[in-house]
Amino acid sequence: MNKYYETVIGLEVHVQLNTKSKLFCSCPTSFGDDANIHTCPVCLALPGALPVMNKEAMKKAVMFGKAINAQINRKSIFARKNYFYPDLPTGYQISQFEIPIVGKGELVIDFEDGSKKTIGVTRAHLEMDAGKNMHEGPVSKVDLNRASTPLLEIVSEPDMRSSEEAILYLKKLHAIVRYIGISDANMQEGSFRCDANVSIRPKGQEEFGTRVEIKNLNSFRHIAKAIEYEVERQIEAYEDGTYEDEVYLETRLFDVNKGVTKSMRGKEDSADYRYFPDPDLLPLEIDDETMAVEIPELPDEKKERFMKEYGIKEYDALVLTSDLEMAKFYEEVVACKVSGKNAVNYLTTELLGRLKKAGIFDITKSPISAKTLGKVIARVEDGTINGKGAKDLLDLLMEEVIEVDNAIEKLGIKQMNDEGALIAIIDEILTKNSDKVEEYKAGKDKLFGFFVGQVMKATKGSANPASVNKILKEKLS
Ligand code: ADP
Ligand code: MG
Ligand code: ZN
Repeated sequence: MNKYYETVIGLEVHVQLNTKSKLFCSCPTSFGDDANIHTCPVCLALPGALPVMNKEAMKKAVMFGKAINAQINRKSIFARKNYFYPDLPTGYQISQFEIPIVGKGELVIDFEDGSKKTIGVTRAHLEMDAGKNMHEGPVSKVDLNRASTPLLEIVSEPDMRSSEEAILYLKKLHAIVRYIGISDANMQEGSFRCDANVSIRPKGQEEFGTRVEIKNLNSFRHIAKAIEYEVERQIEAYEDGTYEDEVYLETRLFDVNKGVTKSMRGKEDSADYRYFPDPDLLPLEIDDETMAVEIPELPDEKKERFMKEYGIKEYDALVLTSDLEMAKFYEEVVACKVSGKNAVNYLTTELLGRLKKAGIFDITKSPISAKTLGKVIARVEDGTINGKGAKDLLDLLMEEVIEVDNAIEKLGIKQMNDEGALIAIIDEILTKNSDKVEEYKAGKDKLFGFFVGQVMKATKGSANPASVNKILKEKLS
């Protein structure tokens, strides 16, 4: 990016908690059903209906607080954030303002080169979601199924300095909420939504620049693009001397098709929302049992364990543990008693490469199961097939449901481990190419590869490469 300016980013992430029922009533939180069937007097805000706090949501917020090493407030307060919109039947959102359930915490991001940075989390608070407006030509409709489902809003400090850092933060946060099982964090379905606050300042300036908030970001790629566009826009305004006019506290939307951010509305400040404690809800008190809730292994802990237990490099461990399903898959492969390193290589290059080609980006949808991949690797390790055979085998397994050993038979890729037979083949090749043997002996080392290639060709790729190397070296020395 521009070397005269520094980018400053703070993120607000709304995570939909995967509780069975809504935040203040017993309506189910299920997604994708007919409009307005999951509603009741409470979430429709009919007169006289009273909210009752869902304890499961509180527990999930506490789990998150523990995962980011945060200060947890045993007593927090629900407040009404007042605004009018058709998808908000109450006319106010029940949220937390002055005392959120989760206070200051932190999250560590890992760069590819192994360096790390700690990003501060300012707070995380519970709030209810709104419904959904749908615009069909001249008609607007509202679906309140989602109204009052529980959200955890996680607010970061303005600690990120590039779109890369913002994405690393979001991916880490995404991994954490999936690891501790408090949300499915599905971005397409809106259960993990991000607003990015972006500003710039000349390098060396202490004071922050004016921030702009970008909403409507539903993929990591879009977030990076939106931030980069916005930074350019702000720098340009700064250099043109129009910064005061063009960069002000406002909410902008990212236009995915055009790749630009556009002004949506001026930003309300908290006074506009007339926050006040909700008189229908007592302060939220965390009981001892909830406070003692344990959380499962976190991404960083899993990464350390993978390095120790399976002897793999930090970067590999990072890639594997950045996604819970990927980590699970890997452990199932290793459970087939194959080496941790081979498992990483076959999983990350061979299998993921094939899945990507097939347009599959979700490891749980892999046509080759972890057990099958484990067996393929085991057949390489016990010498039944070689690396080339394994690749052909994986190609077949992507297409066909067939048992691994049967597939090896079918493809005829059993490795030739019989040294006597190999020696005979090699002798024949060397005799046939006596001119090349002379050249090799005269110092043309590159020809070694030629001989290997000839042997592989003669054995249809089935020769054991280690044996071929060994025998050739002996014969040629
Ligand atoms: P609001 O509800 O008005 O959006 P919040 O306090 O919830 O306010 O969120 C403000 C967000 O903006 C935080 O993530 C914070 O880190 C970020 N932020 C504050 N100042 C700046 C700035 N100058 N540049 C970029 N981000 C900022
Ligand atoms: Mg905001
Ligand atoms: Zn309801």
